[in-house]
Amino acid sequence: VFQLSFPLNFLGSVYRELRQSLIDMDVMFNLQGVEVSIKESPNAKPLILKGGEIKFEDVVFGYHPDRPILNGISFTIPRGKKVAIVGPSGCGKSTLLRLLFRFYDPQNGNIFIDGQNIKDVKLDSLRASIGVVPQDTSLFNNTIYHNIAYGQLTADRDKVESAAKRARIHDVIMSLPNKYETRVGERGLMISGGEKQRVALARTILKDPPIIFFDEATSALDTHTEQSLLSNIRSLLQGSNKTSMFVAHRLRSIADADEIIVLRDGVIIEQGTHDLLVQKEDGIYRDMWFTQEMSDPAFEEEEEEFQLS
Ligand code: ATP
Repeated sequence: VFQLSFPLNFLGSVYRELRQSLIDMDVMFNLQGVEVSIKESPNAKPLILKGGEIKFEDVVFGYHPDRPILNGISFTIPRGKKVAIVGPSGCGKSTLLRLLFRFYDPQNGNIFIDGQNIKDVKLDSLRASIGVVPQDTSLFNNTIYHNIAYGQLTADRDKVESAAKRARIHDVIMSLPNKYETRVGERGLMISGGEKQRVALARTILKDPPIIFFDEATSALDTHTEQSLLSNIRSLLQGSNKTSMFVAHRLRSIADADEIIVLRDGVIIEQGTHDLLVQKEDGIYRDMWFTQEMSDPAFEEEEEEFQLS
């Protein structure tokens, strides 16, 4: 939750960075003035979590009502399951996240978490239940410690470091000139796209939400870094009972999802497991899969290593 006690220069830099990217939903929500259109219901109750089941029911949404982006989207993610959303650029994958966070309300339809309409729950409890590892994390102009602990500034140092270890960024931090006190961001040390994403992962581990949304980074990461980040995420999720949503460009990274949702022109055109979709004759997913696999220069050597879990 937004803290008025933050120094103003810090807020200024936050605002500049946040205009472009989804770094932290709570702050962005407040600073961008979106709350003018989103109102917490006067009878709003705290979200009661019972495992993190997510349900979209006939959701229609466009940033401009005459240009719908989502045109009747329905799906359910049972608690503890992993769902992937795939589809062409601009089809509305990140928009699903913004709706789940209630940056915007759908023009039609409803979204439920554990059976509670998100319109009826307190916004802070809704947002506290969802963690995001965004596509492109902008860092605050502050220490790396602050960047990880952000949103949980009262967390023990041990917990912050343990989250950094689990996100496999601790060793990198210890090699920086001032370790956790090293300043990063626009006016500090620049760190790589993969490292930034691991900072975002550490932040999410620290927050420990029941629902996690991963917006896959593609261009920022080389294949090796991407694979190691994905294996970190997999081990993080294993046995955790967290509900997760993955927005993915590289299909190989989500082939192990419990369910894959293929979005196109505002609707779900295919849905199922990788094994099912890849066998579908004339299937869109099947087509995307083989196109990507053929164009991947590492395809032949990696093919043997690649195992669906
Ligand atoms: P990508 O794969 O490239 O990340 P995406 O599937 O996540 O894309 P969204 O970011 O959800 O796509 O955007 C869906 C559509 O909505 C796009 O056409 C985009 O231009 C438009 N859009 C996104 N944000 C806004 C906004 N704030 N105002 C108006 N239009 C927007």
